[in-house]
Amino acid sequence: MSSDCDGVRAVTPSMEGRRDARCEEDAEGEEAGERAAEKVLGRRDSTTVEYEEEEIEDDDAGLSCSSSESSSESSSSSESSSSSEGYGFGRESSEMLALMERLAVQRLGVSSSELREATIEPVLDSFDLKGVAEYIKSGRAKNVVVMTGAGISVSAGIPDFRSESGLYSRLGEYDLPYPQAIFELSYFREKPEPFYKLSSDLFPGKYAPTPTHHFVKLLHDRGVLRRCFTQNIDSLECATGLPVDKVVAAHGNFDAAHCLNGHEADRDVVEKACRVGKPMRCAKCGEYVKPDIVFFGENLPERFYDCAQEDFQHCDLLIVIGTSLVVHPFAGLIERPQEHVPRLLINLERAGEAPNSEITRLYRLAGLGRGTGFNFDEETNYRDALHLGKCDEAVFELCELLGWKSDLEALIANCSIKRNL
Ligand SMILES: [Zn+2]
Repeated sequence: MSSDCDGVRAVTPSMEGRRDARCEEDAEGEEAGERAAEKVLGRRDSTTVEYEEEEIEDDDAGLSCSSSESSSESSSSSESSSSSEGYGFGRESSEMLALMERLAVQRLGVSSSELREATIEPVLDSFDLKGVAEYIKSGRAKNVVVMTGAGISVSAGIPDFRSESGLYSRLGEYDLPYPQAIFELSYFREKPEPFYKLSSDLFPGKYAPTPTHHFVKLLHDRGVLRRCFTQNIDSLECATGLPVDKVVAAHGNFDAAHCLNGHEADRDVVEKACRVGKPMRCAKCGEYVKPDIVFFGENLPERFYDCAQEDFQHCDLLIVIGTSLVVHPFAGLIERPQEHVPRLLINLERAGEAPNSEITRLYRLAGLGRGTGFNFDEETNYRDALHLGKCDEAVFELCELLGWKSDLEALIANCSIKRNL
């Protein structure tokens, strides 16, 4: 992580000059501070699919949670916290607060009392759909990044995983020893039938995109969509006509398949096998063939990292829809936009929040040059909009505010895959 002197962009003007003057000399101490901060924050730069162990019973509707084996890194880094929030805050809050305050005071060259007065100017006029609509209408959003989860496909009729009626509650149908086994390589190697049975239900073509999927397409049509990162494996984003290169399927999808030894399999043959739910073997080596869905403990596609690296440098608005943000590394993407970039969460419940808004504020004032979770706190929020509710209703409301509602309705009406409502 570099020491980014532009990290805090809107401290009060009188502080700006002093902060710049001190920037270089503070860099060394700052790096040490960052290391300490990371330690307390318990941040993980994981490369495989993970979730917080405490969240396993959560009613999140995301694709995956991983086995406890694969989250050993996260459990070791968060073991000092009893918090279930996933960032490692908790009983260290006061220690962290003191550390961040020291860093911010040093960085800005102000007294502690001045620091308490320091504010970060709001980026949005209001932290709701209206504020975001105004921001888009102002023309400042030209590289919108969208992050989506299972919540946007619920109204398509696709079974989610962790809700009350979700897949994980229907173990009997799949004869699984435990829910997550269906997405574990070791289990698949021995018993691929449950995954193939599930695939017969999930294979693309059966479901139609939802209004929320069409909203993402509309952003593209308006020329402002940088990329859509999705956790979903249903390929419904592209079913709207959105070009494949605009989507990053973070947890893979059924577009391609490989055997467990890595041989590529013919997509059409795989599709037939999936549709009838019958496990298929590799023509070359006889090993089972698996669609390119990311299983627990597997690496995410290279493209996820490549696009994340590139896209968030340009991102000028982040819209997160229908995900409870518990699966890493996907969930960590919300920390990637630059610190002045507005973010909007549309979800049934709050998600992805940094557990301590004052620490978040100080983190930014200290210019640590890296984002944190959402901060919806009235006093200290300057860029995070929240809309609690159903995804489809929210995007209609947003489109109404944008004057795009008829365009959204036209996309839905003209979609070649009709919804069965
Ligand atoms: Zn093979």
